[in-house]
Amino acid sequence: MKVVVLSGGVGGARFCQGVVDAVDDVTVVGNVGDDVEVLGLHVSPDLDSILYALAGMNDEERGWGRAGETWRVLETAAELGGETWFRLGDLDLAVHLVRTQALRDGATLSQVTARLARALGVRPTILPATDDRLRTWIATPAGEFPFQEWFVGRGHRDEVDAVRFEGGASATPASGVLEAMAAADLLLLAPSNPYVSIAPILAVAGIRDALMARRVPCVAVSPLIGGRAVKGPADRMLARLAGGTSPAHVAACYSGLIDALVVDESDAADLDGLDVRAIVTRTLMVDADARRRLAEAALGAVPA
Ligand code: GDP
Ligand code: CA
Repeated sequence: MKVVVLSGGVGGARFCQGVVDAVDDVTVVGNVGDDVEVLGLHVSPDLDSILYALAGMNDEERGWGRAGETWRVLETAAELGGETWFRLGDLDLAVHLVRTQALRDGATLSQVTARLARALGVRPTILPATDDRLRTWIATPAGEFPFQEWFVGRGHRDEVDAVRFEGGASATPASGVLEAMAAADLLLLAPSNPYVSIAPILAVAGIRDALMARRVPCVAVSPLIGGRAVKGPADRMLARLAGGTSPAHVAACYSGLIDALVVDESDAADLDGLDVRAIVTRTLMVDADARRRLAEAALGAVPA
């Protein structure tokens, strides 16, 4: 079976691990709306979360970044008065150095990502949604901020009034994305933040159109458990922007794009207004078994 997963960073990457455990042919299409320049380097946090998770190099305890990370460069940069608001570890920095140089030499982000995946021994294909510049902006009562300034810099404390994708209208899918979607037996939307992880991928018109025109099922996994995000602002954003945190509110983010929504058992009593099939299971990815079981629940949407 061939599967394409649209994914954000940490939450999405965990799910991708489960999918890769369960099926052989997986292509992950990652969000690049979070990409940011720090200390002159091109950082792609979501692509890197996926790379590290699929390479088995992610720090499970901290929940992001690389296992065994150290912070000497950042500490030294701080002593020099350099910017330190965005936490880049020493090992992580090596990836950003290599990526930034390759981009400067004219490589595309998808070429660099493929090169990194190969070097890290990651077999599934990881593609950025687009090789074009696409950046997420967050409108709040305190003003509009570039995504990472709001998320990391301000600790996503501001309520969100609107989300905008600079460059989205003209961005085209990275090479290989539409081909993988056309060849897939199943399309999956990871349990990532619908507004700031999946929406920037869907802002690429070619990807959204391919989903609309799909001939195979598309299944989304809800990032909420008991109406609450496991981590991050997805629940607050849904409450404010969609008017609630039920499965129907999550599914409404993907209107016309999905055939089923995987929801947690704790949300199964509240399926009112859900206009796609619900697949009810336990969705908390506590370990490799739980990740695989969740992936298999979503994969069950394809008739054997
Ligand atoms: P980011 O780009 O690193 O912020 O990560 P994502 O957008 O891919 O994932 C963040 C979302 O993952 C949050 O809304 C969490 O609620 C969700 N999430 C994290 N762990 C789990 C889990 O074990 N189960 C489910 N259902 N959602 C999860
Ligand atoms: Ca992200």
